[in-house]
This record gives sequence, structure tokens and C-alpha cells, in this order.
Amino acid sequence: MTASRSTLRCHDANCRKRYELSEVIYSCATCGSLLEVFNSFDGVEGSGLRELWQERRLSRRRIDVSGVWRFREMLPFVTDERHIVTLPEGNTPLFEAPAAAAYAGLDGLQFKHQGYNPTASFKDNGMTAGVTQARVLGMQRVACVSTGNTSASMAAYAAAADMQAVIFLPAGKIAYGKLAQALEYGALTIQVEANFDRILALVRELAVALGIYVLNSVNPFRIEGQKSIVIEMLEQRGWRVPDWIVLPGGNLGNISALGKGLRELRQLGLIDSLPRVAVIQAEGSAPFHAQFRDGGELRAVRKPETLATAIRIGDPVSWRKAAFEVGTVHGVVESVTEQEIADAKAVIGRCGIGCEPASAATLAGIRKLVKAGAVKASAEVAAILTGHLLKDPDYVYRYHSGQLETPSGQPIRATFGNAPITVGHDRGRIAELLERYARPA
Ligand SMILES: *Cc1c(COP(=O)(O)O)cnc(C)c1O
Ligand SMILES: [Zn+2]
Repeated sequence: MTASRSTLRCHDANCRKRYELSEVIYSCATCGSLLEVFNSFDGVEGSGLRELWQERRLSRRRIDVSGVWRFREMLPFVTDERHIVTLPEGNTPLFEAPAAAAYAGLDGLQFKHQGYNPTASFKDNGMTAGVTQARVLGMQRVACVSTGNTSASMAAYAAAADMQAVIFLPAGKIAYGKLAQALEYGALTIQVEANFDRILALVRELAVALGIYVLNSVNPFRIEGQKSIVIEMLEQRGWRVPDWIVLPGGNLGNISALGKGLRELRQLGLIDSLPRVAVIQAEGSAPFHAQFRDGGELRAVRKPETLATAIRIGDPVSWRKAAFEVGTVHGVVESVTEQEIADAKAVIGRCGIGCEPASAATLAGIRKLVKAGAVKASAEVAAILTGHLLKDPDYVYRYHSGQLETPSGQPIRATFGNAPITVGHDRGRIAELLERYARPA
């Protein structure tokens, strides 16, 4: 690893102010926009990279085993590999899912499953880079405001780096599966009686005063790590670019990373065309879908609601980055109902693939886009499953037993329900049951 070819840069095309990588800064001091890591790939030979990355799969070196740092030529902000904090992440499977394809009306469909990460969501792809930067900066403490996968991931990487993780929870809504991870990994967990935005403002103030590094989704280094999802997906596809990549959208960091990764891959000559991208939101938390449809500024949803808690975001911080990336790839933004998400999730389950509700928004969205004629049946489509089934087992049980309700209390039909059956210790009855539920040969 050599001298860094990266700087921090304001994302606003009319500002573009630059900052040193060593500055602890999260938004532009001049205009307030988000920052991005700007990579100059001058002198990087794109042609040899495919083979180099392939060869590293045979290596046992810590940074070669990681499915993020194996692609480190595309993350040149790290100049000393000893700083790298890895668990290791990435190396996630790309599944063929014929039953899900049929459900969506497609000839074929692939799922890139980021739930196969150390803490079972794609947040690990970004967090390895974010915590590595914290170490580069010499930080002893990292913090985030989150009740979800971000806190689970940050807690694990901080533990691996021997840093203290501080998690701030907004009062009220707590996702126990994810909170359980944070507690187990030893994070200092503080519940605050305020909403997300007010806590984040406070944390950012305190962070400056106390020397704590903030790893919320504004953090540009997390975006750098998340680029690896699409790099690895394309490598697994033999560098054949699909027609569509589909992913759920919450704070919109993941779509921002996907778009940046694709543009940089093209710049390096690793791909010569761009796929189209579809971002899917849940109907009750769909400010980006509204902005895409109506244009203009994004109007925040004041009370975002969805059972897909990972995308229950009313005011997505990265929407301008996301809008730029969606525009670049002629992408679309769609929204789907709670019923559509729940059914799509069960269909994915029937493929032997378990994901959390937010991830299933992808299949629901694809089905809608195929029906509307926006995506052709013959299109090559790859969807990103963002988190693992076991993040939210309560939802799964409620769906299959017909007890799931939308946030406003409407019942959700168990279209593909699979409730457990209770029966006495009775040979005849059990034999009869097995007969009744026997699959036709
Ligand atoms: C964070 C998260 C999302 C949303 O990603 P954004 O980058 O905020 O758009 C979707 N699904 C899961 C499982 C997540 O953890
Ligand atoms: Zn600026």
C-alpha cells in the first residue's frame, strides 16, 4: 500500500470543497452538504485487477480473506494495512432463485445475500472501513444513533478493534434481535428520551467535545466499504453486467455506494456499461419515491411507518447522493405495501433463503415493475438482500401464524403462511395429517 490517492470532497457539484483525509469532519464546513471520499485512480492499471483479486482468493492473509479489502485498490484511503479492522466481512453468496423469479414474472433472478456477513447485514461491508478510519485517526471511541443493524455492526467492529462503542437509542422503538447483538459485543448503550434527529445533533456536538468518532450513515468511509458489494457481485457474475440491480432504500447510503462503485469500476475499465438500478421503499416510509416521482426537494415523512424497520426512515440523509446515482444509471424508485413485502419475504424463504423484511422489498418491487412493463421478463436481474432472516423472528412467526398486522393495525394475509400444527400423541391422527399434507409426486 502506498501514498493515498484520496481526499475528502464536498458532494455538492457547485462547491466541491476539499478536506484532508485526516480531518474529523462529517459535512462540508462551507455549504453543509455531505462529504464523499474522492479517489483518484491515476496510474492504477485496471486491466490487471480482475486477476489480482482472483488470486487473492487463494491467500490466507487477513486482508485478502476479507471480501472488502480484497478489493483494496478501490479503497485507496488506507495507506497502512495494519490499521485495517476486519472480522472478515463480505464473501457473500450469489443465489439463483427460480421460484422467486417465477413469482416476479422473470425468467431468472439472482440474490446477492449480504445477510451472510459477520453480524448478518450489509452494514459490515461499510463498518469495516468506518472503524478502520477511526483507527487511522487514532480514535478510542466510536458512536452512532441507531436501534438497528448499524449499532450491531459498529459494536462488533469496535470490539474487534478494542475501541469503546457507544450506542444511542431513541426512546421507544427497540428491535430486540439487533439490540441483543450490540449488548453481547459490549457496546455502552444509552437510551435517550428524544427522537433520532435530536439525538444525532446532540451526539455530533458531544463527539467534537469528547473526541468520539461518529459512524452514522453520514460517514463517507462506510460508503467506500459498501462499494465492495457490487464489485463482488460483478466478479461472481464473471463481470457480466446485469440489466437491473435492485435494492431496498432507507437512509440511501447503500444506493449511494452502489452507484459510486459502478462509476469507479467503469472508470477503471472493469466494466464498460452500467446496469439500471431500482430502489424500493416501503409505502409508509417512501420520501425518496415521492421525490423521484414529483421532482424538486425531498419532503421528509414526519411519521415513517413500516414493519420493515431497517427502512423505516422519514428523512434519508443521503438522498442527494442517491438522486445523483439513480439519475446516472437511469434508475427508478418504487414503493410497495406491507402485504407485498410480507408475501415476497415468504416466497424468498421457500427458496431456502432467509432475509429480513426490508430485504424482501426488493422482490416485491421487482414483481411490481415487471407487471408495469418497466422490467422485461427476459431481463437479467440481481437483487441485494440486505439482512438475515433471524434479525426479526417475531415478524416471521406472526406472518406464518396469521397474526401479522400493519403498523396501523390492518391484518396482513398469510398468503404463503405455514403455521405449526398441534396434535395429540396419536399415531392415527399424525399419519392422517402426513397423508393430508403429502406433496403430489
Ligand atoms: C440499513 C439497512 C437498509 C437500508 O439501507 P440504506 O443504506 O439506509 O438505504 C436496508 N436493509 C437492511 C437490512 C439494513 O440494515
Ligand atoms: Zn460544500
